[in-house]
Amino acid sequence: MSADWPAAEERLRARDPLSRPFWAGLEEGRFLVPVCRACERPHFYPRPLCPHCGSREIAFEATSPDGVVISATTLSRAPEPQWEGEVPYTLAVVRLDAGISLMARAPNDTKPGDRVRIAGEPIAAPPFLRLVAIRED
Ligand SMILES: [Zn+2]
Repeated sequence: MSADWPAAEERLRARDPLSRPFWAGLEEGRFLVPVCRACERPHFYPRPLCPHCGSREIAFEATSPDGVVISATTLSRAPEPQWEGEVPYTLAVVRLDAGISLMARAPNDTKPGDRVRIAGEPIAAPPFLRLVAIRED
């Protein structure tokens, strides 16, 4: 991690309490997603109620970060001023083998059907990691 990355306590404080286990796990190389104890289905993003059955009984469980790209779009204009130095960059929607979908940065030549693995990449602002899709060859 870079020298200007905030200390662990600062990263913890700045993160949304609902998603802290996800980000903390990602920092440790573990992919923890919320799973409902009532219906046993995973979901993403972390939230207080299960989107499938409404239960509040949710726990984080380790799952595979592997999946397939459903769609990919390369942005040539930054949606926010802080990303102007990063365009062009590609965002991919990834369907994980675990049955959840998420969005992640991806190589600019990413295409639907590519097999990828999700990882965390340090950034300066909360949540201090961004999701990146790394192509599996
Ligand atoms: Zn449920």
